[in-house]
Amino acid sequence: MKPQLKSLQVYSAGLSDEALKRKTGYEGEFSRLASNENPIGPTPKVKEVLAKSLSGLNYYPDPEANTLKEKLSAFYDVPAEQIFVGAGLDEVIMSISRAVLVPEGDVLTSEGTFVQYATHALIEGTHLKTVPLNDGCFDLDAMAEAITDNTNIIWICNPNNPTGTYVSETELRTFLSKVPQSITVVLDEAYFEFVDAEDYPDGVKLLKEFPNLIILRTFSKAYGLAAMRVGYAMTSKAYVSEFNKVKLPFNVTTLSLLAAITALEDQAHLKSYVAFNKAQREQLFAKPYSKHFLPSQTNFIFIKTDQPQALFDTFIQHGVISRPMPIGVRVTIGQVEDNKKIDAALTAFFGE
Ligand code: PMP
Repeated sequence: MKPQLKSLQVYSAGLSDEALKRKTGYEGEFSRLASNENPIGPTPKVKEVLAKSLSGLNYYPDPEANTLKEKLSAFYDVPAEQIFVGAGLDEVIMSISRAVLVPEGDVLTSEGTFVQYATHALIEGTHLKTVPLNDGCFDLDAMAEAITDNTNIIWICNPNNPTGTYVSETELRTFLSKVPQSITVVLDEAYFEFVDAEDYPDGVKLLKEFPNLIILRTFSKAYGLAAMRVGYAMTSKAYVSEFNKVKLPFNVTTLSLLAAITALEDQAHLKSYVAFNKAQREQLFAKPYSKHFLPSQTNFIFIKTDQPQALFDTFIQHGVISRPMPIGVRVTIGQVEDNKKIDAALTAFFGE
């Protein structure tokens, strides 16, 4: 066995609903708000298309995901050969790590960010270097100072999961101009579709200027297809050809590819969920307890508290499954009824 796996924990999305009911005595239906999923679901067209596509399951899927790549290429105006499709961003992050990390290189990221960057640093036997968050935000100045001759890859999550905060275009450009082209920079934009801040940098627009950049997006969040597992990277052709060498041969299923294409084609559905999410988020931000929130450009809110377990328990008592973290709790914005439970829990917890 690889010795470095000894310290690695199995990834867990928390207890099941049944286990939580047994543990806490809560008897109602839980609102599942721990994983930043879309509570409304994908466009109904996905169900129609999948129902008609159940023949042909005896054949392997297209190993190159060509049709989806063509659709993404037209959508973003990025050549199809600069796109890599994986079984969720989880698989894309794994493929990047397998292709790019070398044992003598350092992986640089922030504390308090998506855990898979660190997991793969460990699996690949490299050294992980993290800098602290600055008031819940990626601290790009501190990251620039942490770059050394050994830095192999830099992961930036924008907006950041779990905090919901983002770095601006000016901050990002200043940072990228300091990074030598030999270092790979990954911008994880899993929550891109939710963002409307004017100074947010659209990573795709930076690709021509920075050939060492990799942009990540997913169908799991705003498009509502978490169960189908489809994510993608946009980058230079040179990176894509290396990722193709390390990916699993038939990594994305035929039904998943069809679901993603159908979801991409229904931009009206996407826009209506994004607008709904924003309106619901703003209602929670209008409450007095929002002084404990970090600003959010996403479909979740990070609530700062030095008693995350107590807040998690309060959420459970109100029928909400949230995600406790070391410096607070993350909760996904749900449907109207879910958000009423969030409101009741936060009012009870903060007493305001
Ligand atoms: N990156 C970030 C920042 C995420 O929050 C997530 C999902 N929680 C992922 C990547 C993985 O997403 P996917 O479902 O596409 O594997």
